[in-house]
Amino acid sequence: MNPCPCGYFGDPFKECTCSPSLVSRYQKRISGPFMDRVDIFVEVPHIDYEKLADDSLGENSDKVQLRVTDARTLQRQRFEGTRLSCNAEMTPTEVREFCQVEPTAQSLLKAAMKQLYLSARAFHRILKLARTIADLVNADTIKDHHLAEAIQYRPRRIM
Ligand SMILES: [Zn+2]
Repeated sequence: MNPCPCGYFGDPFKECTCSPSLVSRYQKRISGPFMDRVDIFVEVPHIDYEKLADDSLGENSDKVQLRVTDARTLQRQRFEGTRLSCNAEMTPTEVREFCQVEPTAQSLLKAAMKQLYLSARAFHRILKLARTIADLVNADTIKDHHLAEAIQYRPRRIM
């Protein structure tokens, strides 16, 4: 989605022409329950042509695909004998069973819950995403940096 009707709210290079109340009204149109059902929010700022055209940046897609395939295999093994095939399908009960976080990550999770006013649904979504982030690097447990990455994909503005 655009951040505002003109599309430039928060843009470092071009000024937004919308009034603050218009921006607020626009952002509130996306309801909390809807936001709760989205796994990953990423702010995408304006990008220079030179950066987009430079092939040397970005990671090779074949390498990324391999990592995803490996993570999927790991998940199928985890859920063998259950009706599940991937992390996204976990219910809250299964999240408790399969998404154990390390003690240091526990306190981070607690702080994020409070500061970001997370709903129960968002909480479980973060844990599932953190589990997937850990799977992508073949880590057995969810460490604090996996969790921190998952948390940063929640929307930053409270709408
Ligand atoms: Zn605007």
